[in-house]
Amino acid sequence: MAAKTERTFIAVKPDGVQRGLMGEIIKRFEQKGFRLVAMKFLQASEDLLKQHYIDLKDRPFYPGLVKYMSSGPVLAMVWEGLNVVKTGRVMLGETNPADSKPGTIRGDFCIEVGRNIIHGSDSVDSANKEISLWFKPEELVCFKSCALDWIYE
Ligand code: UDP
Ligand code: MG
Repeated sequence: MAAKTERTFIAVKPDGVQRGLMGEIIKRFEQKGFRLVAMKFLQASEDLLKQHYIDLKDRPFYPGLVKYMSSGPVLAMVWEGLNVVKTGRVMLGETNPADSKPGTIRGDFCIEVGRNIIHGSDSVDSANKEISLWFKPEELVCFKSCALDWIYE
């Protein structure tokens, strides 16, 4: 049971929002069978985005990345389910959309690495850090999905 409550942080980036892809992205996670735990639509502050990408602070693309991420609103979400961190990354595709297979979100909807429309946590550890950075504990919604027994054996 514990494995089914693994959580990941997923965010539709400003380009995904502007291009009208929020619904499509929510749909993919929902249809897969993952459970929505939290969602908020916000203009993220530069401080929050700098913290979110703190591990990349020495990379040459970091300032541009923070500018891109603060260029408009983002849709921040928490999704839950068995192996959701790893499977979520598979659903996203590779960091560079050019290397992403058709059928993945980045493979289907974007072209350049600096406009790759979606973020997904890369490990359970970073998921937990990102979730607590973007959400207060009381914003995480607990409920038993009636589909649970139809999704898991
Ligand atoms: N990024 C970029 N240029 C690069 C590598 C990454 O602009 O050469 C951006 C891109 O938006 C990416 C984000 O920085 O999604 C975070 O990079 P990371 O390596 O963590 O990739 P991700 O986990 O998003 O696949
Ligand atoms: Mg990353």
